[in-house]
Amino acid sequence: MQSKLLPRDPADGLVLKLVRQAGTHTRASLGEATGWARSTVTRRVDSLLELGLLTAGGETKSTGGRPPERFRFNEHAGSLVVAHLGVTRSRLAVVDLLGNPLEPPTDLELDLSSGPEETLPAIHEAMAGHAKHADSPPLGVGIGLPAPIDARTGLPTDPPILSAWNGYPLGAEIEDALSTPTYVEKDVNLMALGEYRRTWPRARSLVFVKVGTGIDSGMVIGGHLYRGANGAAGDIGHIQLEEYPDRLCNCGRNGCLEAVAGGRALASQISALGRKASNARSIVSLVRSGDSEVKSLVRRAGTHIGAVLAGAVSFTDPEVVVLGGDLGVESLIVASVRAEIQNRTLTLASRQLVVEPSRLGSNAGIVGAAELAVDRLWPALEPFQGIEARSNGGRSRTTVS
Ligand SMILES: [Zn+2]
Repeated sequence: MQSKLLPRDPADGLVLKLVRQAGTHTRASLGEATGWARSTVTRRVDSLLELGLLTAGGETKSTGGRPPERFRFNEHAGSLVVAHLGVTRSRLAVVDLLGNPLEPPTDLELDLSSGPEETLPAIHEAMAGHAKHADSPPLGVGIGLPAPIDARTGLPTDPPILSAWNGYPLGAEIEDALSTPTYVEKDVNLMALGEYRRTWPRARSLVFVKVGTGIDSGMVIGGHLYRGANGAAGDIGHIQLEEYPDRLCNCGRNGCLEAVAGGRALASQISALGRKASNARSIVSLVRSGDSEVKSLVRRAGTHIGAVLAGAVSFTDPEVVVLGGDLGVESLIVASVRAEIQNRTLTLASRQLVVEPSRLGSNAGIVGAAELAVDRLWPALEPFQGIEARSNGGRSRTTVS
């Protein structure tokens, strides 16, 4: 299915990507970044201006004489429908091309584990409602699902909590229903992408850990989402802790981090204390009410998460670890994760490491879904061609015309 804003030339995609990354560019700075001839840059920029995807604007430093014309990405060139589907709560919205909601998002309390047949009608209805409210038909749909997505098929594959969604062609179904190109990705990958692009665009690497019903993580390395060979990268929730050999996990194994420190596991530990806790949000309320026994369980969960993350930090040496999800943003979790990483990693990896709660909060998933949709609607020429040209002082020219 084609976007309504044609053409989708990967060289145009590269210009769009460079402008989105930098905020603004001039024709000269684009020439420098790509190594292309001035006439090539002008032609590409003119076609994107004509499509409305670029617009004049941005700060210009005066160097005497007429200042160069600057361009920025025009987030108002179209709208997208985005969804961050969670195990117990989902957020759907119609957004501009930067992921800013154009009207208040819809939050649905759905138990996704009951399967697609039970839950998709409500999701369809909310998406179609948002699509109808947009000024013009949406250009694309981005969806985050809390499930590993097979990199080859694009289908959810063996999701431990959402077993009923195994192999379900969610993307194709929504694409048919809304007649709009639809892209599906693991939810935490989108949260990582959203947080990276909005909050940490200059970070060399970022790990985003979602602590909600389950535990999962996504990584952006060198500006790219890192999915691994099969799409299973970042699956820290099912790393096993030896000290819990009898804690059965949804994946069928014992002692997984998620079965010890995830929201569902914590809720059952808290219920055993005689408190009412059904999900991550009710646990957060108990923590905020000052319940000391609950706080100590939550602190211990943070320590377990930190212990597993310390391994990931030693392995990938990230610049930032962002904690998200209903439980992940809780300060008690953030503090105990941070302390445990410091305890277990070498100073070189941890002395400048930032461990902080998500700044996008409950919008991280929908911002990331918008970023995914724009990336996929206007795919970019492999960026190394541009970088290669720049490292040669712009002398080499790529074959783009
Ligand atoms: Zn498991």
